[in-house]
Amino acid sequence: AKESGRNRFSYFTSQLQTAALARMRLTSELRTAIAEQQLEVHFQAIVSLASGTIDKAEALIRWQHPQLGMISPVEFIPIAESCGLITQIGDYVFQQALLWIKKWRSRYQSQFQISINQSPMEFQSDTTRYLNWVQQLHQQGLPGQAICIEITEGLLLDASTKISQKLGQLRDAGIQVALDDFGTGYSSLSYLKKFKIDYLKIDQSFIRNLSSDESDLALSEAIIVMAHKLGLKVVAEGVESASQSEILSAAGCDFAQGYLFAKPMPAEQFEMLLQQQQKN
Ligand code: C2E
Ligand code: CA
Ligand code: CA
Ligand code: CA
Repeated sequence: AKESGRNRFSYFTSQLQTAALARMRLTSELRTAIAEQQLEVHFQAIVSLASGTIDKAEALIRWQHPQLGMISPVEFIPIAESCGLITQIGDYVFQQALLWIKKWRSRYQSQFQISINQSPMEFQSDTTRYLNWVQQLHQQGLPGQAICIEITEGLLLDASTKISQKLGQLRDAGIQVALDDFGTGYSSLSYLKKFKIDYLKIDQSFIRNLSSDESDLALSEAIIVMAHKLGLKVVAEGVESASQSEILSAAGCDFAQGYLFAKPMPAEQFEMLLQQQQKN
């Protein structure tokens, strides 16, 4: 028994070591990845449920590692946060969005909008960063509304005036704000009153069993009613089936995003969706 105990112990330490080594490797390689443009921005369609058209897209980062293949943002975003590379990544995503949004607005949909995810740490960083983004949008002849910033509930828990100032700054510039993963955080609803937000994104955990779970349905319907009364629009995340989409549509949900419509894909491929839509 003693023997197997020790084996188990060394098994766990070696697993921990492997995890730590993997993390160290990714940390040091992430810098190179940015420099060598191994990071790629994919776009996922956000569809208006009333018209069925693709009105928006969410930008989602991917790491195409030369040896390890595609690495999920779930794995490297936390690393980027802890080694201070997250704002660099965010700026890269913004640059890519800027490049495409101009084209897509002029060719396909004049109101088209791209959503960009912002980590809490990133959101709280430099105060002039978003002003710089706005400047770049304007230089390209684009309004603030061309982009939307996605933040999470955790950020709003911290009731600091800095955060509400920053949100105010964004809104003054016309940039919209979405509250991501809504319902999974600490959900103190008072922040909906305190902070100016444009969209609630209902987390995919509420959507997954929408057709079978009555409480998920009740919660989703309630979120939609509440959001509308507060003047916010609602995006449902992780919509995978037609029945989910129909239920959301009947409940008055404004937008939907999920594999039912399109997976995240490279910009060139996403553009083909917009092209196709224009022909129909
Ligand atoms: P998120 O912001 O909640 O993004 C939605 C995630 O759900 C994406 O995962 C997307 O691919 C996935 N998804 C979309 N539709 C469906 C569906 O129908 N079914 C299922 N099962 N999943 C669906 P992804 O791309 O792996 O991104 C994971 C998370 O990484 C994001 O969650 C976001 O928190 C973070 N992330 C991605 N890109 C960035 C970025 O540029 N900056 C920052 N700070 N975070 C990012
Ligand atoms: Ca998001
Ligand atoms: Ca989300
Ligand atoms: Ca999420």
